[in-house]
Amino acid sequence: MADAIVGMYAFFAVLFGLVFGSFANVLIARLPQDASLWTPSHCPRCGHRVRWYDLVPVLSWVWLRGRCRDCGTKISPTYPLVELLGGLLGYLLYVRFIDDIGDLVLPNVLAFVVFGAFLVALVVAFFVDLRHQIIPEQTSTWLIPVGVLGTVALWVTGLDGFPAVSWEQSVLGALVGGAGLAAIAIAYRMLTGTDGMGFGDAKLLAMIGSFLGALPGVWIVMIFASFIGVAIHLVVILIRRRSGYVPFGPAMIVSTLIYFFYGDAVVPLILPDLARITGIGG
Ligand SMILES: [Zn+2]
Repeated sequence: MADAIVGMYAFFAVLFGLVFGSFANVLIARLPQDASLWTPSHCPRCGHRVRWYDLVPVLSWVWLRGRCRDCGTKISPTYPLVELLGGLLGYLLYVRFIDDIGDLVLPNVLAFVVFGAFLVALVVAFFVDLRHQIIPEQTSTWLIPVGVLGTVALWVTGLDGFPAVSWEQSVLGALVGGAGLAAIAIAYRMLTGTDGMGFGDAKLLAMIGSFLGALPGVWIVMIFASFIGVAIHLVVILIRRRSGYVPFGPAMIVSTLIYFFYGDAVVPLILPDLARITGIGG
């Protein structure tokens, strides 16, 4: 009986993830164009409204064979990919917060909601940044109050332990993340005369800091992101034989996901001193 109930929790977590993956697709397509989020989905080519029975995450794309039902225009595989990613993140959130029968209590459910919003913002920022090299304000600065208030709410309801942080860490995380990266961006511009890193990245890191705290959250994300960013850049140079855009925003987002889901296991392994000082994983 208990197993069946926990299985139901997992099922609903994945379902929520798939639905929010669908919502993320709408945001990815419309935020960069300032388009309304409330008009029904339609084909960008022929303008036909997407029928309600063609709005099922992942499956719709499969049975339409990746084409618009009306005009046959190809629908990007990014759509089902983002939905699947949503389902996976929903499952990982379930594993982190609600994988026991006694876990369907206020602090854990609230953590699922607060960090769910965090993950949706990260997924949207990731794909928008890859395509347009911008990070929408709605996925960065707008989420900072959610991070701070969410952290306070989790603290009040009694969620403790990784990845929850104190409200002081949350505020400090937003300040250190935003100010630190903004300073680097300004220094880079003064030294080289070009923009290496945009202020969009600074706002994104401030948002991440408001959810994960300054220490070790923001620091770890920056350390991981530097390695991932450089690695991606080297691959791009090898393939295209020229230097180009450094996808630092997406690198920060991948780092954030690794830290958020596995930080308490990974950090003590690779940075034992920092783990001891900050008490992470111990
Ligand atoms: Zn069409």
